Amino acid sequence: MAENILQKAQQPSILIVDDEPQNIHLLGQCLKDKYQILIATSGQQAIEKMSSPPYPDMILLDIVMPEINGFDVCRKIKNSAETKDIPIIFVSAKNSDTDEAKGLELGAVDFISKPFSPTIVQARVKTHFSLQNQKQIIQQSEALLKITLESTKDGMIVFDKNGTVLELNQNFVTMWQLPEDILLDKKVDKIIEHGLKQLADPETALVKIQELLSSDTIETDILTFKDERVFSRYSAPLFQGKIKLGRVACYTDITEQKTLESQLRKLSITDPLTGLYNRRKLHEIIDDELQRAQRYQQEISLLMIDIDHFKHFNDQYGHERGDHILQNVAAAMKKHFRNVDWCCRFGGEEFCVILPDSDLPGTVDAAERFRQLIDDMDCDGLHVTISIGAAMLSNLNKSAAPEELITQADKALYKAKAAGRNQVQLYSIPNQQVAE
Ligand SMILES: [Mg+2]
Repeated sequence: MAENILQKAQQPSILIVDDEPQNIHLLGQCLKDKYQILIATSGQQAIEKMSSPPYPDMILLDIVMPEINGFDVCRKIKNSAETKDIPIIFVSAKNSDTDEAKGLELGAVDFISKPFSPTIVQARVKTHFSLQNQKQIIQQSEALLKITLESTKDGMIVFDKNGTVLELNQNFVTMWQLPEDILLDKKVDKIIEHGLKQLADPETALVKIQELLSSDTIETDILTFKDERVFSRYSAPLFQGKIKLGRVACYTDITEQKTLESQLRKLSITDPLTGLYNRRKLHEIIDDELQRAQRYQQEISLLMIDIDHFKHFNDQYGHERGDHILQNVAAAMKKHFRNVDWCCRFGGEEFCVILPDSDLPGTVDAAERFRQLIDDMDCDGLHVTISIGAAMLSNLNKSAAPEELITQADKALYKAKAAGRNQVQLYSIPNQQVAE
């Protein structure tokens, strides 16, 4: 008995609305085994039953009833947000095409003519319950998809092969600052047009997106915005079996990681005391610049600069003032040399400048003027001088190893030190007469 009640409670319920008790009885008889039967004997009673929960899962509705007819009841039920999705089947002797059309227009799912056959009633009711179930499953999976889309930190868009947007989430809207009209339009090309305007390099981005749209593979790339935001994009085709349905694209804001990366990179190539490039970067620069010089048949020079008697300053005035001298010389170096020149701290009190596309007179002039500048500079009340050794890659030794340039400048610097400091010396190739 208890089991029976439980079973009844779990059965879907059907509200039968008819002013003729005989009809209610007949309909109830053919449905009572599988469904829980509720009844209303007038339009008014039906509306009262539908004014508050629990609501039935389906309604079989007579049309011709005194006072409030079935069409009016239907209209009322369809007008309420809470009951509008409950399927209504009209069961009526009023069986003209017009009546049927009117019923369906009001939102009913079906129309059964009186007199009815119990088998037909059972079959139709069963069909509509199963349609209702499928509808609910689809609604649930759509809701689940929506929740999934909104629960990610990424911006996501799904579109079909004709370029119509099927889904996108709020993050996507925010990331791309999509206005209402574009959202309503649901056209991918409009979104692309809007998005390109925000990118640092729209031409390249357009070529890439055209590639993506015609591609059948998974692609990842990076997008840089004019406002310096950086997104990574994961884009994948959507297939059902072998049929391509469209594409999904997923955007992750990686601005913070990129900023951190570039800060770390900057730190790794910078000398913390002077802010000049460090020795690690120097070797990279020489490699690159030598290759460029050889490719374009240009000259390249390297200056090795050393502060004279630096140990003496450190010993006499302390390391803090010693550091300050290094910083002053470095600052002067950055100001004095061209933007295309590379100023590095080689180590200790030694500095290095790489001068791309600089000929012999230009290099000697730049070095000599810098030597003079430091000689004239008041360095926290101290007089500081420097010695400079210069080396250059002439067109004669095209295959010079990068280290060779440093070694040559170092030899020239040694020569400047030996000759009394506070001067510029050029490296001269042994056994050859080179201007000094
Ligand atoms: Mg009637």
